[in-house]
Amino acid sequence: MICSAASIIFLVVGWLKTFMAIGWKPIEPKTILFIMEYRRFGKTEENISVITLGGMRFKNGWNPPRAHLPAESVRNCIEITRQALELGINHFETAHGYMKSENLYGVVLKELGPARESFKMMTKGAPMTGEETRALVEEQLTSLKMDYLDFYGWHGINNEERLKAAVKPGGPVEILHRLREEGLIRHIGFSTHAPLDIILQALNTDLFSFVNLHYYYFFQRNLAAVRLAGEKDIGVFIISPNEKGGLLWNPSQKVEETCHPLTTIEFNGKFCLSHPEITTLSMGIHEPEHFPQNLSILNREDYSSPEFREVHARMDASLSEISGLCTLCAECLPCPEEINIPEVLRFRNLLEAYSMEDYGKFRYNMFEGEGHWFPGNFASKCTECGDCLPRCPEKLEIPKLLFDTHKRLFDRKAWVKNQLYLMAVSIARLLRKFIPGLT
Ligand code: SF4
Ligand code: SF4
Repeated sequence: MICSAASIIFLVVGWLKTFMAIGWKPIEPKTILFIMEYRRFGKTEENISVITLGGMRFKNGWNPPRAHLPAESVRNCIEITRQALELGINHFETAHGYMKSENLYGVVLKELGPARESFKMMTKGAPMTGEETRALVEEQLTSLKMDYLDFYGWHGINNEERLKAAVKPGGPVEILHRLREEGLIRHIGFSTHAPLDIILQALNTDLFSFVNLHYYYFFQRNLAAVRLAGEKDIGVFIISPNEKGGLLWNPSQKVEETCHPLTTIEFNGKFCLSHPEITTLSMGIHEPEHFPQNLSILNREDYSSPEFREVHARMDASLSEISGLCTLCAECLPCPEEINIPEVLRFRNLLEAYSMEDYGKFRYNMFEGEGHWFPGNFASKCTECGDCLPRCPEKLEIPKLLFDTHKRLFDRKAWVKNQLYLMAVSIARLLRKFIPGLT
């Protein structure tokens, strides 16, 4: 464990400022004891902080054009990156797909001026051919104002087609390895939102040194991938533990009470870090008050304290008591109507066990709008054909449970909003194709 007196002092001052600003109750003595921790990122042999600063959510960061950086966005990125560095966070993450993010980090890290070797930079991209790969990486290096990238992840091995495109002979991953030999990239990995079997296939290619994946208390379906990565000494980076992991800053009353005395963010963070295979959690910190919330997951490397174990047991008990529990085994797939049955029924499990309605609505209404990033049709498309029924080891009445979940979670307003957003993204993509120089 690496300690920094400056980071502790800063942490205390930062917390006091935050608490005064937002009028929280007085600081508890235990809160000031947390200091940054570092873990080895698998075979990359790099030591990175267990908290990564995810760069997806800086102020106005998603508004095109990507190279135009409003003063407000730069100020926000400077403030957050400065605090992160002072707190000992040494790993920053972004992607070409996050609009302004690479450019913001480029400007801000130059301005703040940390020694290049004192932090690690991860970016991602999804070039589909070998030819596109070099040009994209060079563009990203220019945006980030860097000579090399510590970690480059092929962005979104989300299905078999994308896995094949990424690893084909002469394809993008092969070119990434060439760029690694040339010194532009130090380590190559991939990010994924794929079903488990695709993630396992990608890990078994032995082409990657790290993987960015989803794995949280409320989504444990990728445990086998975490374990395989551990066996292969592939570093594991957890994507969006607080948002996609359960909207943890806004827990249901049931979750809040069951996790007490831990916060939900603390419980989930400690749950993830209790797995020795997991190196780092990406926190999309974009406001100063997010630091104390997230740093409170740190536990001086003791992630199985009696307090944590008690909360864990209570959380498990809530789930085991529900009727119609789906074990998420995925034996029921494929569904001819392309309903992602285990994912729909996972939202039902969470509703029944923990009253997680906000999270369920947030994720459920992303169906039919996110393509390979979140595949599946709404449960209302079930034709009751019965194909899935004999395959379910739990003998669940799948259509009935699906219709019930749709009724409880479908939100027309959220769906329309998602559709409008996706339409805007498609128009922007089209314009970029036809207007040279538009970014
Ligand atoms: S019964 Fe419904 S969910 Fe099951 S396979 Fe048929 S359409 Fe899909
Ligand atoms: S087979 Fe049954 S238990 Fe398994 S994921 Fe499908 S519905 Fe759930």
